[in-house]
Amino acid sequence: MAGKKGRSGRKPRTDGLKSKAVALYILHSGKTPVTWFRFFKRIHGSRWQEKVRQLMREENAHAKRTRLWRCDCDDPFLQWHFFHVDKCHGCEMYKNEITRRIYER
Ligand SMILES: [Zn+2]
Repeated sequence: MAGKKGRSGRKPRTDGLKSKAVALYILHSGKTPVTWFRFFKRIHGSRWQEKVRQLMREENAHAKRTRLWRCDCDDPFLQWHFFHVDKCHGCEMYKNEITRRIYER
């Protein structure tokens, strides 16, 4: 067997950042991943995971522009609300002036 037992996995980080693995389930036929996933790895090679991360970041940014509004809270996660949410219960901010007038009349 090549390599030492237990040494073939992820290499330790040296930049001080922590990362945790999450499961991404990919359909297989037998032992072969589905074609779209094989293509994705073929196109992006060993950088395919970084590409997935980049696509997720871009999708988040797109959702922030089109589906979410931001309140005055400090938390970079909790400050974003979907448009069906009219008011933040942390900072009491309304999503817009019209909504505020409807609630406060
Ligand atoms: Zn808030």
